[in-house]
Amino acid sequence: MNSISTLLEVFKSFLRDDQVSTNETIREHHSKDESYHLGSLPDIVVYPENTEEVSSIVKVADAHNIPITPFGLGSSLEGHVIPYNKGITIDFTLMNKVLEVREKDFLVKVQPGVTRSQLNKELKKYGLFFTVDPGANATLGGMAATNASGTTSVKYGVMKDQVNDLEVVLPDGDIIHTGNLAQKSASGYDLNSLYVGSEGTLGCITELTLKVYGIPEHIVAGRASFPTVDDAVEAVVSILQAGVPIARVELVDEASIRQVNRFSDTTYQEKATLFLEFHGNEAGLQHDVDFAKELVSDHKCEEIYFEKDNASRNQLWEARHNLAYAYIHGNPGRKLMVTDVCVPISELAGAVKHGREKIKELSFEAGILGHVGDGNYHALLMIDTENLEEMERAELFNEEIVKYALERGGTCTGEHGVGRGKMKYLQQEHGKALNVMNNLKSALDPKGIMNPNKLVQGRKQ
Ligand SMILES: Cc1cc2nc3c(=O)[nH]c(=O)nc-3n(C[C@H](O)[C@H](O)[C@H](O)COP(=O)(O)OP(=O)(O)OC[C@H]3O[C@@H](n4cnc5c(N)ncnc54)[C@H](O)[C@@H]3O)c2cc1C
Repeated sequence: MNSISTLLEVFKSFLRDDQVSTNETIREHHSKDESYHLGSLPDIVVYPENTEEVSSIVKVADAHNIPITPFGLGSSLEGHVIPYNKGITIDFTLMNKVLEVREKDFLVKVQPGVTRSQLNKELKKYGLFFTVDPGANATLGGMAATNASGTTSVKYGVMKDQVNDLEVVLPDGDIIHTGNLAQKSASGYDLNSLYVGSEGTLGCITELTLKVYGIPEHIVAGRASFPTVDDAVEAVVSILQAGVPIARVELVDEASIRQVNRFSDTTYQEKATLFLEFHGNEAGLQHDVDFAKELVSDHKCEEIYFEKDNASRNQLWEARHNLAYAYIHGNPGRKLMVTDVCVPISELAGAVKHGREKIKELSFEAGILGHVGDGNYHALLMIDTENLEEMERAELFNEEIVKYALERGGTCTGEHGVGRGKMKYLQQEHGKALNVMNNLKSALDPKGIMNPNKLVQGRKQ
């Protein structure tokens, strides 16, 4: 089948007209992500409503060797959803139901198009919450597919730690479950871990069973400011090495605090700052907060301020979550490049220092921020994608900091994933293990139709 009109006819035999589109604006919306990577249009966008429809769509693609790109919100940052080989984009927007809250098991079953804030709104009725919170209001399907993490991962873990089970439509249309409802399992290969982080290259996630937590009895959040980024980072390392059970610890450098104030109408002190949060009961919390105060004062902390009420606490985290958008809005015409290395905690201070030196050396203006409690920091560059010299300099910067991280046992991506942009670093990071990944891709998607040329290439024919 090579004509789009024939494909449309087949889809319309089992989908409604409004579930299939070749509209230019809709294809344009599905041609890019939120980053500097240049877009490419899909031929067709489909909007399934249930697993059976996904399976039927995939069977058509399999029968005719047509590439498929799964699409959640499109907030990824390394070209993950760009259909470079055209074909069918499957948008999961209509699969947006919270299917079951199993409050006694601390589990929730959702469809992949449910967003993290939609889920938390529903869970609040049960006194529960879902922990992973990437900056964007991403879909749970996209978050599982990228093994996303966020501000609370230092305490609760990343996406892979929250997944009990996934329902997956395989590249031939078959439907499997990768786990179960039990708290632990030693039964067979860990398919949850294989599909979490597979970036749509091994199948489509059509249902997720996720761990949820009771909303903490008490939450205290605040800001600590420092004369330099290096002091702030060293303070974080001390907090972690002392074993303080911190729930969130985020670095925002001086330039980024300026963006926050401008975008979110806040008046935070424009200094290198840590946003901190502690969860627990009242007595335990006070002890943790006092200990953390003592530790940060050893690193020249100039001011530590705790928010007095829920509204200020929410404003603090909203401002942090909006930070990348603050840069995007503050730099019209430029595109976002976010680096994403993650290193062992003991290497973090050195890595951030090295990153800042390279920014200066390569004459960039860039913000430094990140989930430093995980050893993960980002440099945020707003680049002119039409200026080749600037693009080359930005790529060189990324390469330099990835090299630094890999030489110290770190990774080229702590949370954003590989997509297209980070594929070139995988050989250096994984060595022969990359062959295993390529073999897995070829065994599980022999025709190479699932999100082709992303993450890994598959075995060479
Ligand atoms: C402002 C901003 C801040 C961000 N902050 C963070 C952060 O703190 N932490 C973090 O981890 N990330 C962050 N990101 C990146 C991004 O939000 C995450 O990668 C997120 O998990 C992507 O979810 P999505 O729904 O947008 O997925 P998409 O971008 O639509 O898709 C991402 C990948 O998942 C695949 N996919 C999507 N749905 C499915 C499905 N149902 N089945 C199989 N594959 C699927 C796609 O093919 C693609 O490869 C940020 C992005 C922005 C723009």
